Amino acid sequence: MVKALFLDRDGVINIEKDYLYKIEDFEFIDGIFELCRYYQKLGFIIVVVTNQSGIARGYYSEDDFDKLTSWMLSEFSAHGIDIKKVYYCPHHPDISGACSCRKPNPGMFLSASKDLNIDLKNSILVGDKERDIKAALNAGLTTVYLFDESSSVAISDASKILSRLEEIYSANT
Ligand SMILES: [Mg+2]
Ligand SMILES: [Zn+2]
Repeated sequence: MVKALFLDRDGVINIEKDYLYKIEDFEFIDGIFELCRYYQKLGFIIVVVTNQSGIARGYYSEDDFDKLTSWMLSEFSAHGIDIKKVYYCPHHPDISGACSCRKPNPGMFLSASKDLNIDLKNSILVGDKERDIKAALNAGLTTVYLFDESSSVAISDASKILSRLEEIYSANT
């Protein structure tokens, strides 16, 4: 079994912008490449788990999402980072009905664990919403970080709340 660094996308990898799908609007968050390289060196694989209800809402297509994902993966690759897989939930309960993949449901984590033989208990999640934290805890992870750049969240089930990604990797170096 392998350990994984699970990353939410919007608000963790890139600056949150509502229903982002254009490459020109995608801005990487400071410290994301360093964070990935740090855990990659420790032997973690990196997996993205992202809710993309903009697809169910018709704001952009799966093709738009795939194009942005390909570009994002090539940027990571240029920084020496291998993202093993990107899981996304294209659903919205009001439009496409209930699903097991939309966070806070643990579906994407469970699929990843099955597909990639991941040891969930010893894996890590970084998310920016409480539903990311809940999904990871529901999947059996125990190390879950809430990235809250604006330092506005006071209460969370997260192991730790951080306002800079650097706090995660620099604490251990
Ligand atoms: Mg997010
Ligand atoms: Zn779903």
